[in-house]
Amino acid sequence: MCPKRAENQEPVNREVDVQRLSVLGSTGSIGTQTLDIVRLFPDRFEVCALTAGTNADLLITQAREFLPECVVIGDARRRKQVEEALEPLGIRVLAGREGLCEAAALDKVDTVVAALVGFAGLESVIEAVRAGKNVALANKETLVVAGQLVTHLLKEHRGTLVPVDSEHSAIFQCLVGEPANSVESLILTASGGPFRTRPAETFGSITRAEALAHPNWSMGAKITIDSATMMNKGLEVVEARWLFDIPAERISVLVHPQSIVHSFVVFSDGSAKAQLGLPDMRVPIQYALSYPERWPAPHERLDWSEAMHLHFEPPDRAKFPCLDLAYEALGAGGSAPAILNAANEQAVALFLSDKIRFTDIPDAIDRALGSVPVQEHPDLAYLIACDAETRRVVLEHVRTITI
Ligand code: NAD
Ligand code: MG
Repeated sequence: MCPKRAENQEPVNREVDVQRLSVLGSTGSIGTQTLDIVRLFPDRFEVCALTAGTNADLLITQAREFLPECVVIGDARRRKQVEEALEPLGIRVLAGREGLCEAAALDKVDTVVAALVGFAGLESVIEAVRAGKNVALANKETLVVAGQLVTHLLKEHRGTLVPVDSEHSAIFQCLVGEPANSVESLILTASGGPFRTRPAETFGSITRAEALAHPNWSMGAKITIDSATMMNKGLEVVEARWLFDIPAERISVLVHPQSIVHSFVVFSDGSAKAQLGLPDMRVPIQYALSYPERWPAPHERLDWSEAMHLHFEPPDRAKFPCLDLAYEALGAGGSAPAILNAANEQAVALFLSDKIRFTDIPDAIDRALGSVPVQEHPDLAYLIACDAETRRVVLEHVRTITI
């Protein structure tokens, strides 16, 4: 779907000087970096809505700076605190899931930056798509869980989806100006995470702190653990399948520990394109907001005058079974990727609270994929039920684990 947009789509807000934003998940890693881009181009943006899960203090600080029309606090118990702080500024305060969905579909908003983490972001992205917004999508889990449904809704409501994820942004950039039928394959690069060279026999003793120490990127806790298990790359394969309408057999993964080449596209004439740069999420966030333009910005450059070696190696699929689990779920189709995602989210949460070992994460996902039934064409209600059921299955299984 993205290559077609690159050719045919009108530029975002060609007629409009100011792009009106709703930043969902504004207190997270992607959300705060999105606001860095707004600070860099204050004349180009108006922030209409900001949302947070639990971090009321940061949400209040952001609201005082950007003066949005409304803010949403996910945790309804903190609503009063936010209301008291923002009442003098006349900022409307909403709470919970309904508030989030309202912020995603505000009439005056042009672009919704979807930067919630996990399944919790799904409904708000669907609301934004139904309202025909431009969606700058960081929340990859939405496409993993509901790629089929979101693709269908995008066509129906003539919405647009531009990737924020660095690999998908790289591919999106490589596809600009290329005919849609000229793509032979996509190669997603992966850093390999903190355990690329660690012996597999020691994986059982990996601690939370070790898994949270990513060598190249500073990100939220969930995606950092996903990078350590390489499930992040598995989720990104599913994300790429839906964003670029390319079957799984034509999407591969290549480990590139320096995170400088952000991904490749191989074309039907044998030529390949890649997009390169230092690992800095503000670059793909800015491109998602400036597309189809490029805006000059002072992000740090690679030093091309220095000698440099770029290293690539195939992923170790035995050491990182999450990658094959993602391909398996994508192959099974229907709700299988939603099962994969829910089991992963639940297992990662358990690992982060020291309830299971690192090696229990792929085991829990494998079991869930083997036991939760798959529905071929799930609707939103089914996907919500499937998510809950899968989490229940993982929790039940985990009761039998002792660490
Ligand atoms: P994060 O944990 O730093 O931030 C998540 C945001 O969502 C926070 O504002 C949090 O308050 C909000 N949130 C979480 N749960 C919520 C809930 N139940 N209700 C309402 N709000 C809730 O996460 P992140 O690292 O910024 O990642 C966000 C998304 O972007 C993820 O899907 C991730 O995979 C993707 N992504 C992140 C990076 C990165 O560098 N951080 C890179 C590529 C893709
Ligand atoms: Mg990525």
